[in-house]
Amino acid sequence: MVDFTLTDEQKDLRELAHNFAEKEIRPVAWEYDRDATWPQEIVEKAWEVGLMNAELPEEYGGPGLGLLSGCLIEEEMGWGCSGIGTSLMANGLAATPVILGGSEELKQQYLGMLTEEPKLASFCLTEPDAGSDVGGMKTRAVKKGDKWVISGSKCFITNGSHASWYTVYAKTDPDAGHRGISAFVVPRDADGVTVDKKEDKLGQRASDTALISFDEVEIPAGNLLGEENHGFKLAMMTLDHTRPGVAALGVGVARAAFEFASEYSKERVQFGVPIAMHQAVAFMIADMATKIEAARLLVWQSAVLLDQGRRNTLAASHAKRFAADAAMEVTVDAVQVYGGYGFIKEYPVEKLMRDAKIMQLYEGTSQIQRLVIAREILNPRPPDTELQTKQETEIQEKAQKEATPA
Ligand SMILES: Cc1cc2nc3c(=O)[nH]c(=O)nc-3n(C[C@H](O)[C@H](O)[C@H](O)COP(=O)(O)OP(=O)(O)OC[C@H]3O[C@@H](n4cnc5c(N)ncnc54)[C@H](O)[C@@H]3O)c2cc1C
Repeated sequence: MVDFTLTDEQKDLRELAHNFAEKEIRPVAWEYDRDATWPQEIVEKAWEVGLMNAELPEEYGGPGLGLLSGCLIEEEMGWGCSGIGTSLMANGLAATPVILGGSEELKQQYLGMLTEEPKLASFCLTEPDAGSDVGGMKTRAVKKGDKWVISGSKCFITNGSHASWYTVYAKTDPDAGHRGISAFVVPRDADGVTVDKKEDKLGQRASDTALISFDEVEIPAGNLLGEENHGFKLAMMTLDHTRPGVAALGVGVARAAFEFASEYSKERVQFGVPIAMHQAVAFMIADMATKIEAARLLVWQSAVLLDQGRRNTLAASHAKRFAADAAMEVTVDAVQVYGGYGFIKEYPVEKLMRDAKIMQLYEGTSQIQRLVIAREILNPRPPDTELQTKQETEIQEKAQKEATPA
């Protein structure tokens, strides 16, 4: 049976997130955008009311909510301001590799840090010369006794200036391409870690995007996440978890633009009637609504698959690609509905158009999503391949056990 009804808990959570976005984020969002200031107060309040770290397991102090619940929060944050929303949600990107591959000790220490205080963590994959092509990274990790020594630079790191720790990807076998990458937890206060630059951006200006350098940074051997040289797999599994959330953020941006445009089209009069009465405008509003509905369904599908313990790689890329492109198209059309006023900063929609652009770029560009989709369709992997999730393995093992006579 397919049932799109949310549980009462999910409805309450969505209402909590919406009220927070309406009262705490919306009134200040355009100011934060203009000044590109860091929304520390909002981070603290969101943490206080339980809107951060939604998926951190209960044993480490988190609420242990499912991915669908996380996506409900993300849509509302995107509706409030996706720049502030990105700042609030980025802990999930850094924490997921720790949840998937960290030792019990690492989980207690680093996940606990995020749930005990309103602290932040960042995911450090991208480098100046290695974006879509992760295998080209130059950051190195070398084992010396009971330590790893990490050197290199990571760019465009969300929350990088404010993070207490980083999930860092580095080459441990430089000749093995993406099969020679490992992942590590690096504390911000380790010697040799520096925040070199905060980027000045087109959109999502309230979010922090930084260049981080690691100069001969020593960390304990136990800070390795998962197996040595399996970091690429961990990064891809992480993106399966987080792409639905980014897509949900995109749905929120699109919904905000759609609401502003619909209202404006009923108020603005040209040729003696509200512009909504002109079919060309009404059809733009109709197309916006359809794209938002379709994007949300893809988000929910990709999240529910993972909540059920099934691999969602294809669904997550469908959701991310479609919702990102929908957010861009809807916000561009919202500016069109506003006419010349849409281009003026005093009106709300130009910010949304600038904010939407990043949806097509971070966590895999729209082209990279299409690469994943094409690969999954043209060369489908059997379920027991290397990107299988832990949950999927558990379900398979359980099914095998049940099918095997005792
Ligand atoms: C605001 C912001 C926040 C970010 N946050 C983080 C973060 O927290 N952590 C992190 O690690 N990274 C982060 N990123 C980095 C982001 O994920 C990368 O920018 C993105 O993956 C693209 O890499 P690139 O910028 O090097 O572009 P490139 O890889 O150089 O791509 C340039 C263009 O070529 C296209 N292209 C590349 N290869 C192919 C191909 N094989 N086929 C078709 N087209 C291709 C791309 O789609 C794109 O249009 C962030 C970026 C920004 C701008």
